[in-house]
Amino acid sequence: MKVKKLLKIGVGALLYLAGGFRVPQRVPILTYHSIDTTGSEMSVFPGDFEQQMAYLKRKGYKVISLQDFYGRYLGLKTGGQRLVVITFDDGYKNNFEHAFPILRKFDFPASVFVVTSCVGGKPKWLNEVIADLEDFCRHNQAKKESVCSSKERHSFLKSLPQLKLKLEIEALKKIADFPMLDWVEIGEMSKGLISFYSHSSTHPHLIELTDSQVDQELRVSNEILEEKLGKRAEFFCYPYGSHSPRTESLVRAAGFAGACALDEDWDSACEDPFSLKRIPIRKSSFGLLEFKFKLSRAYLRYQELRRTLRFVQARFISVDVVAGQR
Ligand SMILES: [Zn+2]
Repeated sequence: MKVKKLLKIGVGALLYLAGGFRVPQRVPILTYHSIDTTGSEMSVFPGDFEQQMAYLKRKGYKVISLQDFYGRYLGLKTGGQRLVVITFDDGYKNNFEHAFPILRKFDFPASVFVVTSCVGGKPKWLNEVIADLEDFCRHNQAKKESVCSSKERHSFLKSLPQLKLKLEIEALKKIADFPMLDWVEIGEMSKGLISFYSHSSTHPHLIELTDSQVDQELRVSNEILEEKLGKRAEFFCYPYGSHSPRTESLVRAAGFAGACALDEDWDSACEDPFSLKRIPIRKSSFGLLEFKFKLSRAYLRYQELRRTLRFVQARFISVDVVAGQR
């Protein structure tokens, strides 16, 4: 794993030297989850969040709303402007306590995707995630590295080394007990800078549900958001980023104007309004440097390189393995 990490840093440094730290021609859409100090992969420390927002301000980034992005920039180049969109998934109360005052200080708009059945409660779905990860750990006890197929649930976490994965499970147990935003806080945040959209009713893996179950998730969350906020939620965000052409068309048919995925990539050719790629902002060992990297053209090049390597691996290496097994 250390070699892999060193390679990643090496590639990042090479891209930096190649001048890749220029502003890209696309709008990065940042994804945050919980703003806390657990050290989880899905968390960002409050101090780091403030530093990141201060960096955007200092560098003259214009933070635009998701609605503005869809209306004016989807699939278009930015003409050299520094634009960025900020999104939060799940709707933790700490978004109100730690992120909202900072967003207000800098006058930055943001979007929060809420799991409507958990508003005012706890992130119930995390208990299932934790059980799945613990089960995975038990079956991989002997291995130092966790290995899993990218098709597996929670593949990013399962690809962490065992020790890190165990620490992650402990952090997730703390987050599973965190309170979520309630309707009073949502009302206060939505008065100005913050827009609220749907992240389903119960946070399931949509691709594993039948059409009518997906419809039910969309309908129930929509009805609650419309009743509480007085308007329909325009956008949707796939729980776990789990989506397929079938779920995309169901979301479209439910009347949403667009949907966000969680794919760690930018589609530089065109953006699909129903599977918008976003950049996850996670805790970082490299501080602000990683955040700067993710906003840069170097990051786009890095993702292109990863895509090419994955293609080569799938096309040639796996063919050899299959051929060797025959
Ligand atoms: Zn989520």
